[in-house]
Amino acid sequence: MSDSINVLPGQTIGIFGSGQLGRMLTQVAKRMGYTVKVFSPDSNTPAGQVADEEITAAYTNMDAVRAFANSVDVITVEFENIPYETLQLAQNIIPVRPSAQVLYIAQNRLREKTTLQNAGLPVVPFKAIHAKTDINDALEFLGGACVMKTAGFGYDGKGQAKVQDAAQAHAAYSQLGEGTVILEAFVAFETEVSVVAARSQDNEFAAFSVAENHHANHILDVSVAPCTLGKDVQENAVALAKRTLEALGVIGVMCVEFFVLPSGELLINEVAPRPHNSGHLTIEACACSQFEQQLRAVCGLPLGDSTPLHEAAMVNLLGDLWANGEPDWQAALALPGVQLHLYGKAQARAGRKMGHITVTGTDALRRVKQARQALMLGNNGVS
Ligand code: AMP
Repeated sequence: MSDSINVLPGQTIGIFGSGQLGRMLTQVAKRMGYTVKVFSPDSNTPAGQVADEEITAAYTNMDAVRAFANSVDVITVEFENIPYETLQLAQNIIPVRPSAQVLYIAQNRLREKTTLQNAGLPVVPFKAIHAKTDINDALEFLGGACVMKTAGFGYDGKGQAKVQDAAQAHAAYSQLGEGTVILEAFVAFETEVSVVAARSQDNEFAAFSVAENHHANHILDVSVAPCTLGKDVQENAVALAKRTLEALGVIGVMCVEFFVLPSGELLINEVAPRPHNSGHLTIEACACSQFEQQLRAVCGLPLGDSTPLHEAAMVNLLGDLWANGEPDWQAALALPGVQLHLYGKAQARAGRKMGHITVTGTDALRRVKQARQALMLGNNGVS
């Protein structure tokens, strides 16, 4: 089902996945008068807590998937790793956006990078490894240090290893399970940026301003937007994002993540066919957030205004912050302009994304870091 649709307020959105991205999408959809049903194997989930209905079933429970698809007007996803057969079954009943085909490509780094490369887009140089015997040729082709990544189900640096030579590459290959992996050049980038953008069924395109991202332990730590890179680099990032969404035929929201080389050249690291952690700050920074944009795009509504109203910065709140007890909310919220988002997760585990803080306005990056410090130290972040 890929015909034009108009799913209007009052109708029902289905979401596969029920984490924080689904929660923030649901919050917008509820504000705009939609009914929301979420489907995932878990219960009392971040999205399920705010949705009208939380369906708890395995993604491979085809009877449950069929019933779900028959009970909603459009389906979208909050994470891409939903089994392809599930998406296809749902798509035969009701529009799935982005489509099962787009999600199939984005589920696998090899398919993703090959598709982007074939479309003439600049990706990090890579080689596929299907067996041990492919390793030496790939290392020679790429030259220098490399990163080995599993082809499927990798995120936040999981299933990755940096390798300097053949011995390390063979060891990493064994550790990653000896299936199909990709070996890509290690990029000595200047910084990392991302563009969250949307494409509608009428080929309308809208991008949010380019965000600059800093990672800690391979997990996004801080984003700030608009970034301070030159105008030409930012325009190039948006142009490449537009070509990426068009090449993949995305209807919905997609994040395109880039490495910025010292020369200003951009290489695509990866894409995510959904709202992205680096776009959370759009909730406060723009008239239309990345979640409203996703809703608009998948429902066939006009895209919203993604122009930034002010500078904004976001810090993630990982479970580690709870190591010594409850963070000091009083201290952080005493700082001006602090917007707290918590995702309703009961268990605070190290590395788990529990929430985020956004600050808008002048000097947002410094102020948002100060807010996180305050959570740890109390006393408004001043030790
Ligand atoms: P990924 O899950 O592929 O987005 O990787 C997580 C993070 O690891 C990236 O945001 C980079 O900071 C780093 N990284 C991944 N691939 C490379 C690479 N080829 N060269 C340098 N750093 C990388």
